[in-house]
Amino acid sequence: MELNIAVIKGDGIGPEITDEALKALNAVAAAFGHTFNYSEALMGGCAIDATGVPLPDETVEVCKKSHAVLLGAVGGFKWEHLPGHLRPEKGLLGIRSALGLYANLRPATLHKALVDACPLKPEIAGEGFNILIVRELTGGIYFGKRGRDGDTAFDTETYSVAEIERVGRVAFELARKRDKRLCSVDKANVLETSRLWREVMRGLRVEYADVEYGDMFADNAAMQLVRDPRRFDVIVTSNMFGDILSDEAGMLTGSIGMLPSASLGTGTLGLYEPIHGSAPDIAGLNKANPIAAILSAAMLLRNSAGLEKEAAAIENAVGAALNEGYRTSDIWSEGYELIGTREMGDCVSANIAG
Ligand code: NAD
Repeated sequence: MELNIAVIKGDGIGPEITDEALKALNAVAAAFGHTFNYSEALMGGCAIDATGVPLPDETVEVCKKSHAVLLGAVGGFKWEHLPGHLRPEKGLLGIRSALGLYANLRPATLHKALVDACPLKPEIAGEGFNILIVRELTGGIYFGKRGRDGDTAFDTETYSVAEIERVGRVAFELARKRDKRLCSVDKANVLETSRLWREVMRGLRVEYADVEYGDMFADNAAMQLVRDPRRFDVIVTSNMFGDILSDEAGMLTGSIGMLPSASLGTGTLGLYEPIHGSAPDIAGLNKANPIAAILSAAMLLRNSAGLEKEAAAIENAVGAALNEGYRTSDIWSEGYELIGTREMGDCVSANIAG
């Protein structure tokens, strides 16, 4: 298969970790006989320095012409004094909206080799878990009408049937390819938007009879994530609940250096990036954990190219590198071998087999 991938390395540790993700992609291409073409584009602080804006039109064009976008991270101290519309992070919102990406996928996977890093008791963490949170990304309270009226402030949440249905379908389809369990999270006991959310999701379940479906209130879901995370396979929820629950679930896995994400829209074009930022405190020191970026590349192969075996090869290679005892500093503990960004990338790539 020939795949055109737009590569936005960004700022801080972005270039270092993205290079390791590209190393893994090249290992997959060699092992499975694919051709991956890369087009580099600027976004964030480096784009501001070069062009004056965080998201140049040319970058949007390159992304639109590609099958998928691989992103490192953007932002840093150097650009913090700039006004809001010129901040590097504006590029992130801009590219998501330019590409019509409305479903944000955040896996929270606790690897067996890292159960010690999980803040939960060993009997709860068990041998690890693998949860996928699907968060609606372009609607809800973050995008509703807001304002001030005297000493009162308000934010409004709006969801349409179409908005709920499209993200609901993404979640059902993903559940179908995993353990076939979907939990829809809402607050239907209080919110009208949640009542509509539940109605639409329950309507969809008829079309996905092979998926075990349940719904849960958001407060209960927050509790169940720490009480028994293994009860979840795929969770689908609104923008704000997804924001909160995905951070909670991410924390259970030990380090943000391990967590990838994907943003999808209609069609197969998607944006893949680690959940962490540009970590300017460790940039250029060969210290950053590249695993979140490498696993983002695996999500890219699975979700934008349907290359399931190849995605699994990367994920298994990450597991193998951890089992061999290699750790970057964010996940290191006594008894393990401390290595740098490049060395972790080498270990993972060496374990990729066709
Ligand atoms: P951050 O995620 O960059 O860093 C938080 C902490 O985690 C730091 O101590 C950092 O060293 C560590 N860390 C992050 N990624 C790591 C990795 N791969 N390996 C090892 N350690 C890692 O968050 P922050 O410090 O709040 O933000 C720094 C900059 O990143 C800011 O400019 C912020 O706006 C930006 N940011 C960008 C994105 C993005 O590009 N998607 C997301 C969040 C923050």
